[in-house]
Amino acid sequence: MHEMAITQGIVDAVCEHAMGRRVCRVDLEIGTLSGVVAEAVLFCFDVVAVGTLAEGARLEIAEIAGVLHCRTCGADVGTEDLILLCPCGSADVEVRAGRELRIRSMEVEQACAQPADARATATR
Ligand SMILES: [Zn+2]
Repeated sequence: MHEMAITQGIVDAVCEHAMGRRVCRVDLEIGTLSGVVAEAVLFCFDVVAVGTLAEGARLEIAEIAGVLHCRTCGADVGTEDLILLCPCGSADVEVRAGRELRIRSMEVEQACAQPADARATATR
C-alpha cells in the first residue's frame, strides 16, 4: 500500500511547516489520475500522525477530476481512467488535470481556536 509512504510524506511536510505549533486541519488535493486512493490516505493519516504535531488534525481531501487534452483532435476529455486515450483513438494526449497530489492549505492551532488564556496573558 503506497498510500502509507505518501501519507508519511504529507505528515512530515505538514509538521515541518507547523514549526512547533499543533496542526488542526489539513486540506489535500488528490487527482483521480494520481493513482492515490483518497480513502486510504484518510485511513493512513490517523495512523501516521500519532505522536506528531498533526495528531488529531482533521484531514479534508478534494478529489480533482481528470482532464485530458488530445493533440490529435484538440478535444478536452474528462476521464477517471488510468488508461490515457482520447475517444477518437489517439494516445497523443496531455494530462491537463487529475495528477495533483498536494497540500492546498493547513491550519495550525492559533488560527483555528482562540484560547481564552492567551488573551489574559497578553493584557498582563
Ligand atoms: Zn482525440
